[in-house]
Amino acid sequence: MVAPFRYTVSAAQVIFGSGSVSRLADAIAGQGGKHALILSTPHQKADAQRIAASLGPLAAGLFDGAVMHTPIDVTERAMAAYEKAGADCVVAIGGGSTIGLGKAIAYRNDAPQIVVATTYAGSEVTPILGQTENGQKTTVRGPGILPEVVIYDPELTLGLPVNISVSSGLNAMAHAVEGLYAQDRNPISSMMALEGLRALKQALPQIVNAPRDIEPRSEALYGSWLCGTVLGAVGMALHHKLCHTLGGSFDLPHAETHAVILPHSAAYNAAAALDALKPAADLFGGLLGSGLYDFAASIGAPMALRDLGMKEADLDLAAELAARNPYWNPRPIEGKAIRALLQSAWEGARPR
Ligand code: NAD
Repeated sequence: MVAPFRYTVSAAQVIFGSGSVSRLADAIAGQGGKHALILSTPHQKADAQRIAASLGPLAAGLFDGAVMHTPIDVTERAMAAYEKAGADCVVAIGGGSTIGLGKAIAYRNDAPQIVVATTYAGSEVTPILGQTENGQKTTVRGPGILPEVVIYDPELTLGLPVNISVSSGLNAMAHAVEGLYAQDRNPISSMMALEGLRALKQALPQIVNAPRDIEPRSEALYGSWLCGTVLGAVGMALHHKLCHTLGGSFDLPHAETHAVILPHSAAYNAAAALDALKPAADLFGGLLGSGLYDFAASIGAPMALRDLGMKEADLDLAAELAARNPYWNPRPIEGKAIRALLQSAWEGARPR
């Protein structure tokens, strides 16, 4: 029997395909924009400059200072650049860090956002903004935060380094795994989650072998759109809470932390969400935790928290923080079991 559900459609427009960045000018005009502030990280400045040049006078300025976790002082500098350029919209070209900056600007001045997404993190299709001030990360949600238009051009992902592609792809898969057992899941979110997992499972090994092959790049970007949409549509649980804690309080890198934790969080919840996870478990050989672990190992993903700079002495505190402020999870948050999960993840042990 189909379980009762509620389904809300996101208002964002998605433009997907090789060469689709050429539609950027139309997308800006479609939002009523005449003067766009282009955003990027320092690393992607050259790409941003090239795309800005192709826009002619529609590009009113470039701010290339985006960094991870959206610190408020960077947002303030970007707001000043927005004012100085006389901008009326933002164009974020990059991954979650750059997209986060665009969202932070829109959160403050309601600027329309056009995103050219170049990683698999999924932030471009969520109404969620995480920002940091004085080392504290807080999360806000709201319709003004969701970008209006998202362009996915696989050609812009050909240069995404293999190690970032792998971690970012597993970050996307984590959205799908948690989406499958979300309390507020619906048939569409579950279909998207499963198809996203299938696409990324197929694409990531091919990207490792041939990073500049457009077909797996296209498949991975398609999968990441689906997984990101699931993240934006339904509630997340233990996995995201653990990664938020490890990133926010111990400064671990975002995508790599998701990659390490995913097999362990999936194993923790496997028995409690048996039916919901069955199609995903089938995709990974029957047991989701160990199946994901073997898959991650086969594509050269980071496997242990200790390799990301986590200290063993901090695991007790991490377990305590992750169990604080109770939240819904298919299996209750059991302190001892969470501590054991973190130990396994720290060592890089294969979950059973
Ligand atoms: P990122 O945006 O920091 O990108 C990682 C690095 O890869 C950067 O140096 C970037 O310039 C570079 N890069 C990106 N695309 C490239 C490409 N195609 N070619 C070459 N280099 C490229 O990493 P991320 O994992 O995408 O984002 C992480 C951030 O996003 C975190 O702050 C996280 O909290 C946030 N995030 C937010 C949400 C949300 O819904 N709010 C969802 C996912 C992630």
